[in-house]
Amino acid sequence: METLKGIAVSPGVAIGEVFVLDDQRRRIARRTVAAGQVQGELDRLDHALKKSIEELSAVRERTNRELGEEAGKIFAFHLGMLSDRTLTGPIRELINKELVTAEYAVFATFTSLADRFSALGDAAFKTKVDDVHDLSIRVLKHLIGAHTSRLAALKHRAIVLARDLTPSQAAAFNKSQVLAFVTELGGRTGHTGIFARAMQIPAVVGCPRVTAGVADGTPIIVDGDTGTVIIDPDSETLERFTRKQERAALFSISQAELRQLPCVTLDGTPIDLQGNIEFPEEVPSVLGSGGNGIGLYRTEFLYLAGDEEPTEEVHYAAYAQCVELLGGRSLTIRTVDLGADKYTQDRADNPERNPMLGLRSIRYCLKNQAMFKRQLRAILRASAIAPGCIRIMFPLVSKVEEYRSAKFFLNDVMEDLQEEGVAFDRNVKVGMMVEVPTAAILADKFASQADFFSIGTNDLVQYTLAVDRTNEQVADLYHPANPAVIELIRRTVKAAKEARIPVSCCGESAGELEYTMLLLGLGLRTLSASPTYLPALKRLIRSVTIAQCEAVAEKVADFDSDVAVSSYLRDVTRKIIPEAFDGRPGED
Ligand code: PEP
Ligand code: MG
Repeated sequence: METLKGIAVSPGVAIGEVFVLDDQRRRIARRTVAAGQVQGELDRLDHALKKSIEELSAVRERTNRELGEEAGKIFAFHLGMLSDRTLTGPIRELINKELVTAEYAVFATFTSLADRFSALGDAAFKTKVDDVHDLSIRVLKHLIGAHTSRLAALKHRAIVLARDLTPSQAAAFNKSQVLAFVTELGGRTGHTGIFARAMQIPAVVGCPRVTAGVADGTPIIVDGDTGTVIIDPDSETLERFTRKQERAALFSISQAELRQLPCVTLDGTPIDLQGNIEFPEEVPSVLGSGGNGIGLYRTEFLYLAGDEEPTEEVHYAAYAQCVELLGGRSLTIRTVDLGADKYTQDRADNPERNPMLGLRSIRYCLKNQAMFKRQLRAILRASAIAPGCIRIMFPLVSKVEEYRSAKFFLNDVMEDLQEEGVAFDRNVKVGMMVEVPTAAILADKFASQADFFSIGTNDLVQYTLAVDRTNEQVADLYHPANPAVIELIRRTVKAAKEARIPVSCCGESAGELEYTMLLLGLGLRTLSASPTYLPALKRLIRSVTIAQCEAVAEKVADFDSDVAVSSYLRDVTRKIIPEAFDGRPGED
């Protein structure tokens, strides 16, 4: 038995068998095909090489254009290799003579070439080793996709272990087969964790060496409440966690009884509890968990789930489905928040050096206008189904001009629709996420432009504290309870109240019980969180008064350390709702 510790990102306990999803530079198993399938494998190889050459030519052209021909020559080696018969010849020969799959032939040939470069020992050739690996990954991507390929082989329920998962890889999971997952990389609010919560499966990230030496089929326990991963548990441990699973099931039954009760504090103040979703199919689970609408629809998952950019009709169908499922309740559609760890780096020919500070979110949309307008058209068209239901929200706005530009595009699209005689809600509310310090510091300026704010603590913490939210090595520094973050929330709520615009919180802190009293005490009356968290939130809200929450917010203002704030908040909350903390870290 071996116990490992990672970062808990999605609650619950799973008990099952290991399924290891290999790293990108993985070994491709040697698989043979029947003689009659050889031509098919050669055709697959030709297709993959052709697609890779097309991609590389496009990168070279763009580099020539933007950086000059000298820079473009970097890709000459890559292109030269893929067109060189001395490389492609042996791949074909391997398929023809040994009847192996195209992916194995590519893998074996590139690996042997990289080994030969490596053995030369010369620094100039060492860089070629990386080039060869990159090329191999590029061609393999066209043959078998990214990590997801091995998943196709998953025919039973299992717990997936991987070095890392991108949100699009997680999106390819078959929900009925993946019981839980654990990765070696990643942080608390990375999008892979968000995805696990959407799927309502336990997950742990930032768990060092979890894939090392573990074979498929090994028994494993994953505790998504504490971040504990136990490989090959003994019978006593197995029994303890089985009991924990049963207790959690009982707790969720008692939560279910709460659903019909109003979400008000003990002194009768109504709190609007809404849900965060990534897919329309999650709407019923938000409503079933006591949510009163959707406070954050992360529409970028429309892009992450497939290989192609969604068409206007795909967007429209998703939004229309949500509106219909919501029956008149509010739907806040966030325009695509691509970039950073979502989509663009995976598919970029020129990945950014520092994507978290790069071309992401609204910046990406403003530079990809056709794509942005396609989405805005679809949202506006869907707004006609139930006028007043849809709100549009722009992510990661950091400058007032950026907000104005986004509105400008929206107005442009409205004019087009008007001219075409297409119906839409002219009074649709348009707001923004407050998730970078500039937006919080200048909240009064933004409040005069926007119809509403939603505070995104995930990014607000990342950018205020200069801590990458996906990096397990600095996860201990990532803390929503940092007094600087609390001060920015306080400022944002105050500016919104003064401008009389609605303000909510939709970051992960909105779903974490220890922050609820603080957020209510700071003046928030709308919280939006993953459906998993809604029942417990409602229970806590119904057990406190606003005066108690205000006292908590006032007390917190005296602290100068995140650890002190956090343990204070935890203690106060635990006294009110001890059963919700059952089995969490530090609670035993
Ligand atoms: C946030 O940053 O808090 C947020 C809700 O957006 P996302 O997690 O999708 O970046
Ligand atoms: Mg964000």
